[in-house]
Amino acid sequence: MHEKMRKKKALARILVISAHPDDVDFGCGGTLAKWGKKRAEIVYTICTSGEKGTDDPHLTNQDLARTREKEQRAAAAVIGAKEVIFLRKPDGELQYSSDFRGELVRVIRQCQPDILFTHDPANRAFDNQYISHADHRVVGELAFDATYPAALNRNYYPQHQDEGLTPHAVSELYFFATSQPNTWVDISSTLALKIKALRCHKSQIKNPRVMEELVRTWFAAWGREKGLSYAERFRRLSIFHDPSQRLKQLKRSFR
Ligand SMILES: [Zn+2]
Repeated sequence: MHEKMRKKKALARILVISAHPDDVDFGCGGTLAKWGKKRAEIVYTICTSGEKGTDDPHLTNQDLARTREKEQRAAAAVIGAKEVIFLRKPDGELQYSSDFRGELVRVIRQCQPDILFTHDPANRAFDNQYISHADHRVVGELAFDATYPAALNRNYYPQHQDEGLTPHAVSELYFFATSQPNTWVDISSTLALKIKALRCHKSQIKNPRVMEELVRTWFAAWGREKGLSYAERFRRLSIFHDPSQRLKQLKRSFR
């Protein structure tokens, strides 16, 4: 009963799947903060705890992982996310596997999102070393494959049924860090929140002033592409479950 009421209240459920702490806030924090204000329910799933993200020989991986999880939880609270799930996979070592895909399918079936944000698996431009991190490429591909067809087809990971989980169809994917954007979201009203969230990742920021300037410059440039002060941009993909909807979209795009 409570669950049903909660479902009714949220306009949309959003799940984000990223490789490391801070990817989400860089990639789509402004959009999430904006949609969160409109009663979207947001869950972050972070595949690693970013324990390799230091050059300090005195800092153990375990300590850094703990710090980065704390930083990510604080940032998610700034954005307005309901929950942060950490899968605690090894940072920098992510590999595509059926088991890993199954873990993402489980999260999708648990959260039942309408919209899923993740790294763009098609971005092979290699024009930015951060964006092209190997973990980002692996997670983008896994999240896509987990969404379609695995999460919605009961023959994939049938053991989930024993856990009370049911197949789930995501309606839309938003790929961040894309080289082929087709969607711009005006984040002028939430840029300050995005920066506040990014500032939570203290262990990764050498100079907060430079970080803030970088973020303003970057997202202003993307905003200018559409006459906006600041924008995040995505590759958006609708996943049609009704062939007539797909036909309508095809007709529109060939007009
Ligand atoms: Zn990352």
